[in-house]
Amino acid sequence: MRWDNLTDSGHGRAADAALFGADAVVTRTLDTPEFHGITFHEVRARSVLNRVPGASRMPFEWTVNPYRGCTHACVYCFARRTHSYLDLDTGLGFDSQIVVKVNAPEVLRRQLASRRWQGEHIAMGTNVDCYQRAEGRYRLMPGIIAALRDRANPFSVLTKGTLILRDLALLTEAARVTEVGISVSVGFTDPELWRTVEPGTPAPERRLEVVRTLGEHGIGCGVLMAPVIPFLSDQPERLRATVRAIAASGATSVTPLVLHLRPGAREWFTAWLARHHPYLVPRYERLYAEGAYAPKWYQRRITRQVHELAQEYGIGPARAGASRRGPEPSDAAPAPPGAAVSGAAVSGPTQLSLI
Ligand code: SF4
Repeated sequence: MRWDNLTDSGHGRAADAALFGADAVVTRTLDTPEFHGITFHEVRARSVLNRVPGASRMPFEWTVNPYRGCTHACVYCFARRTHSYLDLDTGLGFDSQIVVKVNAPEVLRRQLASRRWQGEHIAMGTNVDCYQRAEGRYRLMPGIIAALRDRANPFSVLTKGTLILRDLALLTEAARVTEVGISVSVGFTDPELWRTVEPGTPAPERRLEVVRTLGEHGIGCGVLMAPVIPFLSDQPERLRATVRAIAASGATSVTPLVLHLRPGAREWFTAWLARHHPYLVPRYERLYAEGAYAPKWYQRRITRQVHELAQEYGIGPARAGASRRGPEPSDAAPAPPGAAVSGAAVSGPTQLSLI
């Protein structure tokens, strides 16, 4: 395993610094049913703040990722390739060989206190899910959120994990002192598609319950409608069902993102497609003939359809994917469900590296 190639950005090999020493790795295989077949590589990180290469194309410049690999096991996951930087397998290995930065909270607290740190926004969940199942065991996010809260450092979290509700009190505290943006990823609501393509994730309706609960506690939550999977979740009636469910959850915004298939994800997804929907393989070869992204016309079509549905179902308010400042202690009573729904909020085609 090549720990000297461990980079958190998910955008390329680390040519610069060794983040871990080989002697810092402890490997554990647990025997509990919940983690059967999963191996954890516990590492002590020297740094957890990562600058995003090419940040000008991203809405964030800094990320924190306490994990590498993800037991949510989404077949299409763009982050699969990053496992190859460690000489780990990008298929099943990505789903079951999980790198855990066990000292992430204390390292982050130290880095936030540095005079060089300017208090910029920090995005989490942009490479792999910080509320994947491993977080139930390692409990790194409470320490991370507490460190950000104590420095009033703005941050955002993107997740498919219902475990985020465990940290609701901490998130509420943080939102009182800084900008906190939460987004939940729900690309579709079809149960059959979910079971096969996102086998380790909570069901879409459970994720939307997270959106609803956060809203009831005064924390607005957007939905990243990702990925929209061509020919499997893009039919008008399926788009409608998904946007309707997102609207009913009280989401503050909906942002569609069409499936992209970078190396690593592409091979794994294509093998899945050949097993489950072999008749679609030639259509995918044509749609993704130019590379990792579906053609612009297709992306625009999906965005327009989702935009129209969002208007119809009144997803709002104004700013798509916006961070928001939480309630002051004096008005911290939960907002009524759906109170934020007015007007449509949807963002255009995007090629961000998000789940
Ligand atoms: S898409 Fe997100 S939730 Fe799914 S495996 Fe990748 S990081 Fe995990």
